[in-house]
Amino acid sequence: MSQTPRLRFAPSPTGPLHIGGARTALYNWAAARALGGKFLLRIEDTDVARSTKASLDNILEALSWLGLHWDEGPGRGGEHGPYFQSERLALYARHGEELVRRGAAYPCFCTPEEVDAMRAAQEARGARTMYDRRCRNLSEAERQARLARTPRPSLRFALPLDRVVRVHDLCKGEVEVNTAELDDWVMLRPDGMPLYNFACVVDDHAMRITHVVRGEEHFLNGIKQILCFEAMGWPAPAYAHIPLILGKDGRKLSKREAAVAVLEYRDRGFPADAVFNYIALLGWSYSGDQDVFSRDEMVARFRIADIGKAGSKFDEEKFLWMSGDYIRRMSLERVLEEAAPHLVRGGIPGGALHSHRDWLRNVLACLQERVRVYSELPDKMRFLFQDGIALDEAARRNLDKEPGARAWLRAYAEHLRQVALPPSYPGPRGACDTAVRLPVSKYEPHAAPTGLPCATPVDLEHDARAFAERLGVKFGAFVHPVRAALTGTTAGFGLFDTLFLLGREQALARLLAAAG
Ligand code: GLU
Repeated sequence: MSQTPRLRFAPSPTGPLHIGGARTALYNWAAARALGGKFLLRIEDTDVARSTKASLDNILEALSWLGLHWDEGPGRGGEHGPYFQSERLALYARHGEELVRRGAAYPCFCTPEEVDAMRAAQEARGARTMYDRRCRNLSEAERQARLARTPRPSLRFALPLDRVVRVHDLCKGEVEVNTAELDDWVMLRPDGMPLYNFACVVDDHAMRITHVVRGEEHFLNGIKQILCFEAMGWPAPAYAHIPLILGKDGRKLSKREAAVAVLEYRDRGFPADAVFNYIALLGWSYSGDQDVFSRDEMVARFRIADIGKAGSKFDEEKFLWMSGDYIRRMSLERVLEEAAPHLVRGGIPGGALHSHRDWLRNVLACLQERVRVYSELPDKMRFLFQDGIALDEAARRNLDKEPGARAWLRAYAEHLRQVALPPSYPGPRGACDTAVRLPVSKYEPHAAPTGLPCATPVDLEHDARAFAERLGVKFGAFVHPVRAALTGTTAGFGLFDTLFLLGREQALARLLAAAG
């Protein structure tokens, strides 16, 4: 009987979703999609003290932002719910009892203090720390007597002793583990809360999970789980334990790097598609020479068996490059849409997003290739919204070093009075703006011309060249003071794009102000 592939992401809501967790989610999602199966989200919230609503919300939001939509789980429902482990306690209790009946689990009466003392004594002897199985070896009479005194013991798994477990891990290959390396682990606490390995087995079975992709740190848990599946008489899913993500230097990702939450990248202005793409590459490659791909392209090629066996490196520089690459290749409308919250947060008037949308798109056309993340945009465009501009030191030097510069600026301002410049923000860009012939390909076509024709950036440049010639000034020398006057800096995008976007009132006022 062929089974529908079913994969799951099973986070514990004890902190925000980090890069490592997002990668696990992404590979399970991609495998489910590639195999034509289902992707489930299960919340492993049995650690009541550490689970928080804020973490849960963060995880759900980050997954949704990355486009890792789940078919079953919180907010979506499904036949195998509830999808919060804290709501499935009766199921764990029932299966725990079943394992006791089968002799594969036993009640443990040891208090946490006794277990701690046992560990301390083992450490003092230099022995391996593990549960010494004292409750496993109780006689039946003793067990009944203890049960009468302690009706709610914890439950431990009775590990098969000295057995070699052979597994075929889809990532690690054939691996053998001797059960001597493992402990009789706690399955259920006296308060009825299951521990991770047990709840995971019960739920992976109940939810018909067929494949599990997760971090290598769970490999030994996987062995415990396989033995538990076996004791229950259930088939275990196929496992792929994937290598850790390493820092750029090839060592384990530092606390600082590892702790970066996915939503922090959103807040820093990375596009979601770029974050998805970069995370996908942390252990898998699309092809030898192509790093940039869409979700659909990934799904078309993804196979669990192709996840790399060596740890992949997290390289923030490459991540930033990829983010910039995504921004460069997006439509201006999309850039505007995704950048909007960053613009507002960076002090750009929110109203402009409605009243000056065409103009803003053209501003973004000039900046699209100059930023790596959206949050770099506001600083580069703020000068267009200000009434007047203060010159920074380099701009002032530029103005001072050319003796005639102030006179040129005054003359240029006078000259520009005759030129059909569009109005400055917050003036209505409407008529003049939409009438522009668009000779510069990076501008998006505007609506049909409705007003008087304006000068275009290309027109403005031709005109400025002729003007400088009439002044008897080299064009190269002329543009520096003009840039300083218009932008207050020595950097920025094309000068005549700047003049065009800055518009008439601000251009004249700034040229005259700088002329002194
Ligand atoms: N709740 C576990 C974790 O977040 C799940 C591990 C698993 O996928 O089995 O690490």
